[in-house]
Amino acid sequence: MLSLPIYLDNNATTPTDPAVLEVMIPYFTKHFGNAASKNHVFGWEADEAVAYAREQVANLIGAEPNEIIFTSGATESDNLALKGIVEAYAGKGNHIITLNTEHKAVIDTCKHLEKNGVEVTYLPVNADGLIDVTAIEAAIQPTTILIAVMYANNEIGIIQPISSISAIAKKHGLLLFTDATQAVGKIPVNVVSDGIDIMAFSAHKMYGPKGVGALYVRRKNPRVKLTAQIDGGGHERGMRSGTLNVPGIVGFGKACELCRLQMMEDTAKTERLRNKLEQALLQLEGVTINGNNIHRLPHVCNASFKYTDGEGLLMGFNKNLAVSSGSACTSASLEPSYVLKALGLSDDLAHSSIRFSLSRFTTEEEIDFAIQQITATLHELRTMSH
Ligand SMILES: *Cc1c(COP(=O)(O)O)cnc(C)c1O
Repeated sequence: MLSLPIYLDNNATTPTDPAVLEVMIPYFTKHFGNAASKNHVFGWEADEAVAYAREQVANLIGAEPNEIIFTSGATESDNLALKGIVEAYAGKGNHIITLNTEHKAVIDTCKHLEKNGVEVTYLPVNADGLIDVTAIEAAIQPTTILIAVMYANNEIGIIQPISSISAIAKKHGLLLFTDATQAVGKIPVNVVSDGIDIMAFSAHKMYGPKGVGALYVRRKNPRVKLTAQIDGGGHERGMRSGTLNVPGIVGFGKACELCRLQMMEDTAKTERLRNKLEQALLQLEGVTINGNNIHRLPHVCNASFKYTDGEGLLMGFNKNLAVSSGSACTSASLEPSYVLKALGLSDDLAHSSIRFSLSRFTTEEEIDFAIQQITATLHELRTMSH
């Protein structure tokens, strides 16, 4: 039977895959060693497990294992990338180009850097959420050191043209950083063919545990320099000190392996169900889909429901559907989503938008139920307001 509520908020976090949890458990109990302990078997076991996970993570994105820095998640990776680059390349310049639809972990880090004299250009995106690569090129100054553009957007799921942006970065001798938290594990991401220099991602958005993430840092052509933001024992090649979260890293490795092996299957399943949901929504009056519908993650649908408000919809779902509205997210206040506003949506329409994000565990029954619930709620709300 259907278990309620139905979870359609996988861009916020995914459940840990049971196969991931299983490989983690021994590293809490039997093999609990510190991966930095060099004098005994407890340390060696932990170190070997981390090395294996590092290979699994690197394999998913076409990197070398020694280009992977483990962190506590994508927020930390974003901070380390931006702050670390700014410090390491201070002699070259102090200008960053980014987008106004980036995740808060990028935008707020940039705002922090601005207080320290860094110059940041926040480029606007088109109505479909995509950036014009020509706008990026036009924003380059002699002092520019970094282009920071997210791979796929967490709210609307659109996929930015990363390889074209990389070509521009290369042409001008700039580094390209991408927050690929929503893309890695869901669509093919390859740091070599995409031409990425630094990339952040996180285990809990791809069926791994919370509290562990990675920063890919290119080692050749070019060798990226990064100033550590957390000092201490010199772990992770000195770029991120602190005892490694061994069980988390082991789980992250397994999650990457599963995503690599199951990606086509996962995509086929979530895309079919997402399309079914979307087709049903489009039958309803006043429903529009946000974001480019070709360059988009297969499991995400962001819909606006004209003539109603998101909070009313959420209430109407009767706690049967776990989804995100276009007005949450921003520090617990009811601000309309800045991402939807950047696409040109009015405050009203942004407020009446809902993000549905599916997972490899989403079932057809759940989508059928969701369609029913949304249809009934919308009908009720509109009858009431007439
Ligand atoms: C979730 C998310 C983050 C933050 O990741 P954490 O691992 O939770 O810190 C950063 N960027 C994007 C695009 C995200 O979706």
